[in-house]
Amino acid sequence: MKQVVLPSATSMLGTLIGEPSVSSRSSALDQSNIGVLNHLANWLHDINFDVEISSLPEEPAKANLIATYLPQGQHIDGGLILAGHSDTVPCDEKLWHSDPYSLSERDSRVHGLGACDMKGFFPIAISAASQVVNKKLKKPLTIIATSDEESGMAGARFLADRGIRKADVTLVGEPTELKPIISHKGAITLSITIQGSSGHSSNPDLGRNAIDSMHAVIQELMEFRKALANNYQTPGFDVSIPTLNLGCLRAGDSPNRICEHSELQIDLRLLPGMNADAIVSDLKQRLYVIGDKLGTPIDVLFLSPAIPAFESPENSHVAKLLETLSGKASGKVAFGTEAPFYQDFSKETVVFGPGSISQAHQPDEYMELSYFSKTESILIQLIQHFCN
Ligand SMILES: [Zn+2]
Repeated sequence: MKQVVLPSATSMLGTLIGEPSVSSRSSALDQSNIGVLNHLANWLHDINFDVEISSLPEEPAKANLIATYLPQGQHIDGGLILAGHSDTVPCDEKLWHSDPYSLSERDSRVHGLGACDMKGFFPIAISAASQVVNKKLKKPLTIIATSDEESGMAGARFLADRGIRKADVTLVGEPTELKPIISHKGAITLSITIQGSSGHSSNPDLGRNAIDSMHAVIQELMEFRKALANNYQTPGFDVSIPTLNLGCLRAGDSPNRICEHSELQIDLRLLPGMNADAIVSDLKQRLYVIGDKLGTPIDVLFLSPAIPAFESPENSHVAKLLETLSGKASGKVAFGTEAPFYQDFSKETVVFGPGSISQAHQPDEYMELSYFSKTESILIQLIQHFCN
């Protein structure tokens, strides 16, 4: 067995931050994540993991990494998966006080794009793994890094379609301030378009006004939002009801023309247990009626595939163990993660990682240095618990 000295976790994080891996629906901003995966692969090879990097179908510049340490080369199931995403959101460099693509240490924090969401998790996981893999683990330890989490979760969807080795526990290392998260809401983004017809503004009968129809659509959405809030509540979330946000509205080109086309983009956050397909089809029916009545056809399209809600049992073994190790009670959050995609392959799944979601997607994103040793020590105990 080779003995290699890995760089320190902060130095590995510096390398990852220096390798941009923005994912975005805008092709002008979208970048490959393979540079990041190659660094992870090198370090994981050095600590005797088998590493596989597979490109997404029809997207050669995007890939997932699956690295597995099998005890004495045995091909058995079970053990632990430490999972995360290798991409970041785009950033506005002008708003940063240091280069987002270069790790900058100040005030006991490391700053850089992805420092907490979530390039920072991988060096800590690799460093923890390096300290236990030579101590004869009995069950597999797997580290997974996906692509495109920030732009529709294509990497995790591909992983779930292809299937992965079954594990006892999957930990998704998104920033939760080391609080075990056992549930999150699902998210749906929809585009509602209205097709009217234009005409001279002096006579309303010369056309069909798509903004007038939008007025009726928005009224209906308010009613729908009220109905969702009345029918569904789950305690434990900061916002205990499903939410519907009107996020983006576009219409018209001139005050003296009847508006021909309008579009509204909305975001729906559904609670675990809600049937997303049924909710969307209910909404469509309500809006189609308005389109028919006003003679302005309405279309409702998904802007991106739905992110399922995530829920694991309150008495989850891994959550209880993490509560003991971190001293923090389990909870629920509103942001979506890749956790639901691992649930078919894992007896238990939990979201638990260093750093805070409030620093994610922000200028000067950072992780406090104190998280490095705290998280590493918890991960070492977790690996020993589930792989021995
Ligand atoms: Zn993230």
